[in-house]
Amino acid sequence: MQDNRHAAAIERSLGLSGRFAPSPTGPLHMGSLVAALASYCDIKQRGGRWFLRIDDIDPARMDHEAIEHIAQALTVHGLVADGPQRQQSQFNSRYRRALRELIGECFYCRCSRRELRDHKIYPGYCRANQEKQSNHAVRIRADRRRRSFTDALRGTCDFLPEEEFGDLVIWRKEDLVTYHLATACDDSMDYSHVLRGDDLFAMTAPQVFIMAKLGLSPPQYAHIPVLTFADGTKLSKQTHAPGLDNTQPEANIRAALDFLGQAPPNAQFTVNQWIHWAVTHWHLKAVPSQLKPYVADDLA
Ligand SMILES: [Zn+2]
Repeated sequence: MQDNRHAAAIERSLGLSGRFAPSPTGPLHMGSLVAALASYCDIKQRGGRWFLRIDDIDPARMDHEAIEHIAQALTVHGLVADGPQRQQSQFNSRYRRALRELIGECFYCRCSRRELRDHKIYPGYCRANQEKQSNHAVRIRADRRRRSFTDALRGTCDFLPEEEFGDLVIWRKEDLVTYHLATACDDSMDYSHVLRGDDLFAMTAPQVFIMAKLGLSPPQYAHIPVLTFADGTKLSKQTHAPGLDNTQPEANIRAALDFLGQAPPNAQFTVNQWIHWAVTHWHLKAVPSQLKPYVADDLA
């Protein structure tokens, strides 16, 4: 009996996995290192496996150089994945299967961006349209059922689909999967834990709704604050966040741990020693509710 319980516990721990899932829009910057490191430490401390997933479903925003740069920068910083790099563009058959499963709860939407401009939530114009045409988006009907998910920092989060986000587009009129559907499939099928920036918190309820419609369970979520400049804007390619300097990974990791409130020591560690320290001392609850602002050259 003891042994069985022990075996079951091992099996569960082997099933633990997390991911860092950047969009390949530009090089890795300090904000992405903070998110990657946090997701790595959180799952590694639990004895789980960590993966890199490139969220490349939008061909218009693809940057092949960025994919290479991201993978290389993570390796230089000691964040080595426990398996081959995954790319959402490789999972198209998974997303099409999900679309087929959901189609009975969907309708075809021919509204233009302009028609919907003044509506925060889709007003339901095309709800009766069951006729497929190639230039129509596919929306899934929201319902009135209250659902919830758990966030390690915020606790239980309730939502009512119809009031909070309405009929979501799950397939674009350009015949491409949407971020919501792709991420709902991958996060529930492949990972037990999703730790990501709280700029994505608003995406969680729609994704959990889609998971529920597919009969899938949500992962355990944790949303941590994102790194911003002093004026509050998020570090990104659009806000000209500088790419990480791969010649000083030790200083970068220490800075990322400092942003994350982990109180790193003033030590001359190697990259591997820093990662070991970070995983051993990782404490999610120590992450401040707002990270101190990023200043481009405060690593010295
Ligand atoms: Zn419509």
